Amino acid sequence: MPTLLLRNATLLVSMDDAGNQWANGGVYVVDQAIAQIGSTEQLPQQADQVVDARGMIVLPGLVNTHHHFYQTLTRNVPAAQNANLFNWLVTLYPIWAGLTPEAINVSTKIAMAELMLSGCTTASDHTYIWPNGARVDDQIEAAVEMGFRFHAARGSMSVGESQGGLPPDRVVEDEAAILRDSRRVIEQYHDVKKFAMLRIVLAPCSPFSVSPDLMRESLTLARAYGVHSHTHLAETLDEERYCLATFGRRPVELAEELGWIGPDVWHAHMVHPSAGEAERLGATHTGVAHCPSSNMRLASGIAPIRVLQQAGARVGLGVDGSASNDGSHMLGEARQAMLLQRVAGDPAAMTAVEALRLATRGGAAVLGRDDIGYLAPGMAADFIGYRLDTLALAGGAVHDPLAALVFCQPPGVDLSVINGRVRVIDGQLLDIDLPPLVERHNAIARALVRGELGAR
Ligand SMILES: [Zn+2]
Repeated sequence: MPTLLLRNATLLVSMDDAGNQWANGGVYVVDQAIAQIGSTEQLPQQADQVVDARGMIVLPGLVNTHHHFYQTLTRNVPAAQNANLFNWLVTLYPIWAGLTPEAINVSTKIAMAELMLSGCTTASDHTYIWPNGARVDDQIEAAVEMGFRFHAARGSMSVGESQGGLPPDRVVEDEAAILRDSRRVIEQYHDVKKFAMLRIVLAPCSPFSVSPDLMRESLTLARAYGVHSHTHLAETLDEERYCLATFGRRPVELAEELGWIGPDVWHAHMVHPSAGEAERLGATHTGVAHCPSSNMRLASGIAPIRVLQQAGARVGLGVDGSASNDGSHMLGEARQAMLLQRVAGDPAAMTAVEALRLATRGGAAVLGRDDIGYLAPGMAADFIGYRLDTLALAGGAVHDPLAALVFCQPPGVDLSVINGRVRVIDGQLLDIDLPPLVERHNAIARALVRGELGAR
């Protein structure tokens, strides 16, 4: 089996329960897992591949729990720059109707490249619009090519404008077809094994874009296969008013009634739970993807992260995608999380280390993974390194290198190892030629916004 030795890390941070850190640290990897970790001098001195991490801080790979990769094509669209969630959606749905299989594939690669270069090694994506023959398979092909750990959420919308929903009728799918394709992708791709690089998630878009029946049936199907379920919930007060008017329930009450709580369910945003709802989400170990940039961008509000955590909810971070952030920088998102919790008046509401825990262990818990999120023997070999001698960290890393990653300008990674394979070295993605990929992505983005793509 191939071996890899990382040695001489200026600081190696495990994020394990004991808070282990090592100066001059190293990691010895056999195949896809960590075999040994500690001071460099305690480790084997040779391996098939040796990476010198002198001058770097090394920590577990970051985990992104909520994204919409295809939205890299519609970042910063002028008409949606200053809109709240519902108006933002109504502006962008007709544009997204032109998405094609190639647009999904190329935007997935762009989003993954951006995530990887910011320190992310695992992400879930929630694509809920599949026009013109686009399929989850178009994303999976990209993830395999990039060597990225991927939880592909098969999203869906079924309630169009004519039935009182928000999306135009031409972008919603038939519910039987959604369930059929969901079963297909689970059977074809879902990997239950430890160190899985690919898992499937079922993910109706939101309570206002599918029927209650589909929410129930999707959850039943997911549970029959041990697959996790995901949706948007309690993001805005508009949604709360819609749910009260349409269903006579608040969003969390509706989710509870549909069975959408528990250790195999996570909700994006959760900005507006009541105190009692936060308690019940915690008691059921329901997951939450906290997306601070998106919540600020769309003026949605401040999610009560500490309350949810103290109640027992699993909480991770999501950059959200990508037209409501409009970046995919995981370390930047940890910084936003720390700052946003402080806005209400408590400067200790979230520390830098707490933000990094959300981005690592929190994310792993939200995705239901016990093999990523911290570094220890037997865990997946997913780790990242940032140089400490850079302009961004000058005068910060010398005092506290770990907190500097969040307090200072969030840097890009110099090193990323995913599942025991080096994917980034010297700040460059291996095996991926970025300039032509960006050029193709931008050509698709222009054509998409002009309405020149897809069958219209
Ligand atoms: Zn979202």
